[in-house]
Amino acid sequence: MAEETSKVAMEKIVSLCKRRGFIFPSSEIYGGLSSCWDYGPVGVELKRNIKDNWWRAVVQERDDVVGIESSILMNPQVWVASGHVDSFTDPLVECKVCHLRWRATELNSNKCPECSGELTEPRLFNLMFKTFMGPVEEESSVTYLRPETAQGMFVNFDNVLGASRRKLPFGIAQIGKAFRNEITPGNFVFRTREFEQMEIEYFVKPGTDDYWLDYWVKERFNWYINLGIRKENLRLRQHGKDERAHYAEDCYDVEYLFPMGWAELEGIANRGDFDLVQHAKHSGKSLIYFDEETGERFVPYIIEPSAGVDRSALAFLIDAYDEEMAEGELRTVLHLHPALAPIKVAVLPLSRNEKLVPLAKQIYTHLRRSFMTQYDDAQSIGRRYRRQDEIGTPFCVTIDFESLEDNQVTIRERDSMAQIRVPISELDKILQAKLKGEAFDTQPLWAVRQK
Ligand code: ATP
Repeated sequence: MAEETSKVAMEKIVSLCKRRGFIFPSSEIYGGLSSCWDYGPVGVELKRNIKDNWWRAVVQERDDVVGIESSILMNPQVWVASGHVDSFTDPLVECKVCHLRWRATELNSNKCPECSGELTEPRLFNLMFKTFMGPVEEESSVTYLRPETAQGMFVNFDNVLGASRRKLPFGIAQIGKAFRNEITPGNFVFRTREFEQMEIEYFVKPGTDDYWLDYWVKERFNWYINLGIRKENLRLRQHGKDERAHYAEDCYDVEYLFPMGWAELEGIANRGDFDLVQHAKHSGKSLIYFDEETGERFVPYIIEPSAGVDRSALAFLIDAYDEEMAEGELRTVLHLHPALAPIKVAVLPLSRNEKLVPLAKQIYTHLRRSFMTQYDDAQSIGRRYRRQDEIGTPFCVTIDFESLEDNQVTIRERDSMAQIRVPISELDKILQAKLKGEAFDTQPLWAVRQK
């Protein structure tokens, strides 16, 4: 049977991203840099919206999770204690002819996929980027670019507990860059060497860990659904015993159906007491928790939901992508959830007429105080709608000659292409309601998917 893949080809997404300003190859005028990408004007908005919605769900709307931002460079002992220096490795084989390196676990034969040359025996390769602190490049000044944000939260466990006066169960959340010298990066922003993570370390009493693992698996799975990912494109997969990381007691992946098949979007692991025990041992500081209510002392277990911002952005883009025939033309549209859409409202005067433009500008200046708004008066109205469809703008507001007479404008909804006429004085309020999913004449696609 053929492998399951999503209906959208990756090339279509890559091309749309370049054309409309979501994602560009990094340092492109110099020929780019392998697997590094830059987020353009609408890409950066999408990414910010993903991060804001995550932060809102896991910090702002909860009593039991606080945020931090730890530094990318950490004391190198952190990576010894965490096991990254010894075991953050992939077995690699090298082609004896073209010298390309491959992940041994990803090959189906013992020949080089590029040139069919003979391969070496597997060799372990550490995935951490090494660098030097200070002016002297010597072994004692070696440090690493963090390969995950997690360790910043483990080593701050005691600081955060004291400063925020929390009791278990409680969590620390962080969003930030991570770096891995991946051997086989690829599939656009799915696997890169520099990426951004959104991680929670949730500290619990041993014995309650199974309950909390289950809780976070459900919570995180639903986060994607609530932001418009289709249920049939998302699944949970429990790791087999031989697949788990060295620290994990149990682990689930939230997987998305990417163009190359099902692949991890987020991992949710029960890390047991591994991290705090290791850091206590290596730092000499006690990381034991004292439960005031029961008088017990113990090392907390940790449940870790760990997601990638870039992978999420890719999944949201793929899932939203659609091509359909509209008025005899092919329409490319991103049915992004309004909360994620880079631009919420586009203001479009019917033409550059000297009477229409001032009114349109006035409406634009007013609306942009409330929403990310774009003003566009170049080319025909049809082309402007298509441009906004392609970046997933949920609403276009059109100002025409009648508007000058009746003080009304037209709102066009992206998904249904339905148009309604509303008074300018009510525009802000109506758009607010529509962006929250209220006041629709026809159900928009993202709202239907959430049901
Ligand atoms: P994979 O098996 O795909 O390499 P992983 O299991 O090593 O991923 P984790 O260490 O669990 O990944 O990292 C948590 C999340 O960080 C992943 O679910 C993914 O979203 C993101 N992530 C990890 N590595 C990369 C990468 N190289 N590029 C982009 N995102 C990544």
